[in-house]
Amino acid sequence: MKILLLPGDGIGPEVVAQGRRVLEKAAALFGLDIEFQEGLIGGVAFDATGDPLPQETLEAALSSDAVLMGAVGGPKWDRLPPAQRPEAGLLRIRKGMQVYANLRPVRVFPALVGASTLRPEVVAGVDLVVVRELTGGLYFGKPQGRFAATAGEGGERAVDTLAYSRAEVERLVRLGFELARSRRRRLTSVDKANILATSQMWRDVVEKLAQEYPDVEVQHLYVDNASMQLIRAPRQFDVIVTENMFGDILSDEAAQLGGSLGMLPSASLGEPGRPGLYEPVHGSAPDIAGTGKANPLATILTVALLLRYSLKAPAAATAVESAVARVLDEGARTADLVLPSFVEAESEEAGGQPGSRPPTEIQMCSTEEMGDRVLAALAQEVAG
Ligand code: NAD
Repeated sequence: MKILLLPGDGIGPEVVAQGRRVLEKAAALFGLDIEFQEGLIGGVAFDATGDPLPQETLEAALSSDAVLMGAVGGPKWDRLPPAQRPEAGLLRIRKGMQVYANLRPVRVFPALVGASTLRPEVVAGVDLVVVRELTGGLYFGKPQGRFAATAGEGGERAVDTLAYSRAEVERLVRLGFELARSRRRRLTSVDKANILATSQMWRDVVEKLAQEYPDVEVQHLYVDNASMQLIRAPRQFDVIVTENMFGDILSDEAAQLGGSLGMLPSASLGEPGRPGLYEPVHGSAPDIAGTGKANPLATILTVALLLRYSLKAPAAATAVESAVARVLDEGARTADLVLPSFVEAESEEAGGQPGSRPPTEIQMCSTEEMGDRVLAALAQEVAG
């Protein structure tokens, strides 16, 4: 299996290094044959080649089995023209690899229940995946732009177009059903079918495909209700499928359930057999780059997704996830996983739960130490 590593900028190289170690260890323990290649993306690619996504990188991505990416961007490149900015490289690689489904699992680890801003009894046990359509809808529909208009209209009109083909919806919803089948068999489709034509077609597609998946329980929610339910009772969700913009907003809302950005993995998938693009949800965190404070767990959990969806190694994926849960249970923490003392103080004053307060058994870890802990836990998982 060929894995392309794209560390990128800021903390990207620090967290991808730990992801690579975990992947190597998992390969050794589970008998997987992995070959690594490394490429340039983002600001470092612009500095070296004048392009945030060199053609060579895209070609290497397309001929790999999976791509593990860190993050791109940073103040050094913020004043470049839009097409040369690191973030342009990110959008181009997603488009170039034709990854139309973005999966963002949100799992609240028992040891981190207190690290959320929501009450522990609300977030305990949350384990859901938002599947967002990534290459269609409002962000891509034409016409789009700002146009001159009559004086009566104030002299200008702006237009965005929300358009989907039935085929685009079907492939995404089918992926959602398949995913639900591999989990708790519950699919929530989020739309605005009381108003939008695209949502009415979306709902038809879900209803039609539901006949092929009688073992999956289907629920339809309007997006406004879904956003409320996500913070009211998030445990009711298993797999959520939704269109591009609704998914953009809901996946960030769902991300907050888990506490830290440093814990959130993502996978972007296309047609079966094509390479997937795997990246932690967080950015390049220039404020902590080079300090050893970056939490590598989002990238390590991203490696678990890569093992599950691209390398078809579910046992290895589960072992990596269990290893992460184990090190957290043992008290290993990077700085982002400990609530700042002022939040704890406020919470205690209000008589609430003090959150993941750092008691004596907490061991603060650097990026690399957290990687070491996960490697050791992974070996223990496999040894049983
Ligand atoms: P960010 O995600 O980089 O950081 C937000 C905050 O979270 C910072 O305080 C940071 O220190 C913290 N943080 C993020 N990841 C962490 C980790 N693994 N461990 C511990 N703390 C972590 O978002 P930002 O500050 O808005 O953006 C910084 C740069 O990253 C910008 O150039 C932005 O364009 C880019 N960005 C890239 C991606 C990507 O590559 N997918 C995503 C978001 C932002």
